[in-house]
Amino acid sequence: MNESVQRALAQFRGLVKKIKLYQEAAGVLYWDMRTQAPRKGLEARSEVVGLLSGEMFRLSVSPEMGSLLEVLAAPEALEQLDDINRRLVEECKREYDRSNKIPPERYQEYVTLTTQSESVWEEAKEKADFALFRPYLERVVAFNLEFIDYWGYQGHKYNTLLDIYEPGMTVEKLDRVFGGLKERVVPLVAEIGQSPDQPDTSFLNRHYDEQKQLEFSRFILKEMGYDFEAGRIDKSVHPFATGLNPNDVRITTNFRENDFQFSLFSSMHEGGHALYEQNLSPDLAGTLLCDGASMGIHESQSRFWENMIGRSRPFWQRYYRDLQKLFPAELGAVSPEHFYRAINVVKPSLIRIEADEVTYNLHIMVRYELEKALFSGDLAVRDLPGAWNEKYRDYLGVEPSHDGEGVLQDVHWSGGSFGYFPSYALGNMYAAQIAHALRKAMPDLDDCLSRGELKPIKDWLTEHIYRYGKLQTPNEIIMRVTGEELNPRYLVEYFENKFRPIYGLA
Ligand code: ZN
Repeated sequence: MNESVQRALAQFRGLVKKIKLYQEAAGVLYWDMRTQAPRKGLEARSEVVGLLSGEMFRLSVSPEMGSLLEVLAAPEALEQLDDINRRLVEECKREYDRSNKIPPERYQEYVTLTTQSESVWEEAKEKADFALFRPYLERVVAFNLEFIDYWGYQGHKYNTLLDIYEPGMTVEKLDRVFGGLKERVVPLVAEIGQSPDQPDTSFLNRHYDEQKQLEFSRFILKEMGYDFEAGRIDKSVHPFATGLNPNDVRITTNFRENDFQFSLFSSMHEGGHALYEQNLSPDLAGTLLCDGASMGIHESQSRFWENMIGRSRPFWQRYYRDLQKLFPAELGAVSPEHFYRAINVVKPSLIRIEADEVTYNLHIMVRYELEKALFSGDLAVRDLPGAWNEKYRDYLGVEPSHDGEGVLQDVHWSGGSFGYFPSYALGNMYAAQIAHALRKAMPDLDDCLSRGELKPIKDWLTEHIYRYGKLQTPNEIIMRVTGEELNPRYLVEYFENKFRPIYGLA
C-alpha cells in the first residue's frame, strides 16, 4: 500500500470510529429514553440525542470525509485495500454522496416538515381525518420526488427509495416476487377463511402473570443462544432491539396479561435481531459494517426465530411442557396440538402490526403497490384512501370502516419513509429461502428442534450470515447461502406445507 493511501486510510478509520462511537452514545440514550428515563426528563434528553445525531451527520458529510474519500475511493487506491476497508469506503461514499447531493437548506426544511407531519398524522389518525393529514403528505411526497431528482434514478423513480433500505432492490424485482406471492397467497388465505376447521384460541386470552411470562421469555432467549452477558431484556411500550456493539445488544418487550402470545413472540423476534448483532465478526467492530446487511436481511432473522422456529410444531414438542408447568391452571388442560394450532391462526384483519404471518405479506403488498403508484405519478395523494380500501377488499377481503384503521394506521409515510415497507415482506421471503438451505444442511433439523438443540441452528446462521454484517449485499448473501436469487416459491411452499394441515385443507 503506498504511503498516501496508508495515511488517508488511518485518518478515515479514525473518523469512522468517531462516528460509530457517537452512534453508540446516542443508542444508549435512546434506549434509556424508551426504558428507564422519567417522563419529565424526556424533553431535555431528546435534545441531547438530537445534538449527537446532528454531530454524526456533520462528520459523515464533512469536507474532511470528502477529501479522504476522494483519495480512497479512487480505483488505484481501492484495489490496495482489503475487503473490509474497501467495503467500508464504498459504504461511506454511498452515504456521503446521497447526503451531499441535497442542498442543505432544502434538507433542513424537510426535517422541519416531517417533524410537523408526524404530529399532524398522530392527530389525524386519532380523529380518522385524512383531510387533515393530506396537505402534509403531499409535501412529503413532493420533497421525496425532488430528492430523487438530486440523487438520480434508473428505471422507476421509486427504485432510488427502495435502494436506501434494501441496496440493489428494484421495482422490477419486487413486481416479480410479490407477483409470485400474490398469485398463491391470496387464494390460500381465502381457502383458510372458508375452512370449517377453525382453531379455538380462547385459552390464549386467559390471565398470564407478567413475571412468569418474563421468566419464560428469558428461558427461551437463553435456549436460542442469546448471550445475557452481552445483553439484557427490559420493558418498553413498543418492543425493539438495539445493538450498541456486539458485546452489548439489548432487547425490550412488553406484556399483555390477557394475551399470552405478545411478549413471548416479540421477545423471540427481537431476540432474532439480537443474535444477528451479537454474532457479527469482531473484525467489523468500530466500523459502519458492524450492522445487518439491510433492513430485509435483518428482518429475515427476527422472523425466522419468531415464526419458523417459535411457531413450529417440533419446537413446542420440546418446550410446551415447560410452559404448562409455569401456567398449570391456564394451560394444564390444553393439548400440545390444540396449542400449536391456536398460535398459528390465520385471519385477515385491518391492522398490519396485528397480522398473522401469512396475511402480513398482503398488508405489505398493498403499501408497496400504493407507494409505487405515488412515485410513478399514477396515484395522487388525495386518492390514497379509496385506493387503500379497494386493495384491502381485493387482497384481504376486509374493508376499513374509517381511515384511522385504514390508510392512516402507520407512522412511516408521515416521516417520509417510503420504500421501507417492502423490507418486512422481503424479510419473510429471505427467511423461508434461508430456512430451506438450512434444512438441506441439517436434514435432522426437526429432531434437533424437538430435543431443544437450538445451538447448531444459531451456529449455522452465524457461520453463513451473522458474521458477515454489511460486508456483503443482500443479493450476495442470498446467492451465497442459497445458490439462487430471491425466490418467493420458498415462502409459498412453507405456507402451504404448514397451514394446509392446520386447517384440514387438501
Ligand atoms: Zn423486526
